[in-house]
Amino acid sequence: MNLKDYIASIENFPKEGILFRDITPLMLNGEAYKYACDEMVRFAKEVNATLIIGPEARGFIFGCPVAYALNLGFAPVRKPGKLPRETVTVKYDLEYGSNELSLHADAVKKGDRVLIVDDLLATGGTVEATVQLVEKLGGEVVGAAFFIELEALKGREKLSKYPIFASLKY
Ligand code: 5GP
Repeated sequence: MNLKDYIASIENFPKEGILFRDITPLMLNGEAYKYACDEMVRFAKEVNATLIIGPEARGFIFGCPVAYALNLGFAPVRKPGKLPRETVTVKYDLEYGSNELSLHADAVKKGDRVLIVDDLLATGGTVEATVQLVEKLGGEVVGAAFFIELEALKGREKLSKYPIFASLKY
């Protein structure tokens, strides 16, 4: 299956100069969507993950099916103010400005083997912040899985301590 057939590339979205990779055509095709999730499931098994964590919002699109397929739990990483109970929060720098991400403080237990799942790896900032949240809570990050990797942005180098999986590379 050529999964790139299910990605729409949109010029100048959401801002001038950005080429946005849209995964919604993949999600609309049941066979292709399942194929992509199954590849992540295989990787999750290889690294013996015991918990799946995904940043909002597109990390949920892949992370939840992976957790479901393996009978594992899933914990959402969200922008501050969205999670209703005690959280841990990290701040990280963006090209312009900064961003914050939170995780429920009881989402990760010491000894959990966490696989971080997101739709796309660009600079790696989102996942690096997610790693910090997991490690603050005593979890072990055993890898990160993406549907798409934008190789020119070198996110893989930022995450060089961790096994990385990506179905598609641009
Ligand atoms: P990073 O933190 O690695 O620089 O950016 C990755 C995050 O931004 C991911 O959570 C991803 O959802 C979002 N993102 C950035 N560019 C794109 C894109 O072209 N397509 C999609 N689907 N998500 C993107």
